[in-house]
Parts: sequence; structure tokens; C-alpha cells
Amino acid sequence: MAKLATPIARLIEEFSRLPGIGPKTASRLTFYLLRAPKEQALALSEAIRELKEKTTYCEICFNITDESPCAICRDEERDHTTICVVEEPLDVLALERTGEYRGVYHVLHGAISPVEGIGPDDLRIKELIHRLHNGNIREVILATNPNLEGEATAMYLYRLIKPLGIKVTRLARGLPVGGDLEYADEITLARALEGRREM
Ligand SMILES: [Zn+2]
Repeated sequence: MAKLATPIARLIEEFSRLPGIGPKTASRLTFYLLRAPKEQALALSEAIRELKEKTTYCEICFNITDESPCAICRDEERDHTTICVVEEPLDVLALERTGEYRGVYHVLHGAISPVEGIGPDDLRIKELIHRLHNGNIREVILATNPNLEGEATAMYLYRLIKPLGIKVTRLARGLPVGGDLEYADEITLARALEGRREM
């Protein structure tokens, strides 16, 4: 096979590193951009640059935002005495789509996983406990994923939070077991939220 021009090979390699993109798709995307109008290709590169340069973590909930504190934490209409703890920013999106939740969030950025070497110190757990000590919090909803890591993380958090005298709840069962929260449909998720149980 003829050797590809370096810029082409380089972009194919970069695309191949993305989740769900194999070498074939990476080549197809690269040659698509090669033929696309220059403005379109540059708009993509600019969007990627802005994604990295103009986003930050919310100093309160650690969701990704372009302004800290984020829009949810700044919203005075929301119930700031209820915190829903999730693994990833995508889980916030999923819960917001239900339109049922009016509290605020805390994003851990992962789950405890001894297999992958992820411990409590690698997550935003210290920051959560700090929030609970300083704020007027009535309920913490543990909305980590219904899989091994998510359950272990929920148990770990429950043991930390319960002694603080705060109500701790867990989403009701009925979510696809082993799945991620972000893939649950809105009705299932809304029902799991509504049927949450005290731990
Ligand atoms: Zn926030």
C-alpha cells in the first residue's frame, strides 16, 4: 500500500483514538474532511479548541461548565438542600432530560474501581463531604450507576454521609442492571428518581 501523506495519516491516527471509532471510520472521516470546504474543517478544529480552552469545572458541583459556578448551581429556583450525586457530566444531562429533578448535583468524575486502580481519592468525594459540612443539606441522592463499581461507590458514600445526620437515598431499582445511567430512557429514570429509597 502506498504511504499516506503525513497529515492524512496523522488525522486518521487521532480519529482512531476516539471511543467507538475503528480504523475504517477514521479513514472515512479524514477523507471526508479532506474534500469538505475549508471553513467546515476549520470550524471543527475551532470547536475542539474551544471545548478544551473555554470549559472548566464548576467550583461547587464539578460539572463541566463555561462559567463557574455553573447555571444549575446559580439557579435560585432550584432546591439547594438536595444533592444528587452522579458519576459523570453525561448523567446530569440524562437526569435533566427527565424534567423531574429540581435539586442540585455533585459530579464525582468516575466510580471506585479497585480493578482499574481508582480509589476514593481519585474522585471528587472530599469536595462532596466538604459541601455537606458547610451547607444546609437535607438529602443526598446517590445516583451512581447500577453496576458493581456504582454500587460500591454508593455504599462507600453512604458510610461517610450517614453519620452527618443527612438523609441518604438511592435510586429505585428498575434501571437496567449493569448499564449506565446515561443510557436509561427518561421515563425509567424519572420513575427511579421518584421511587428512591432511604438507605
Ligand atoms: Zn455547579
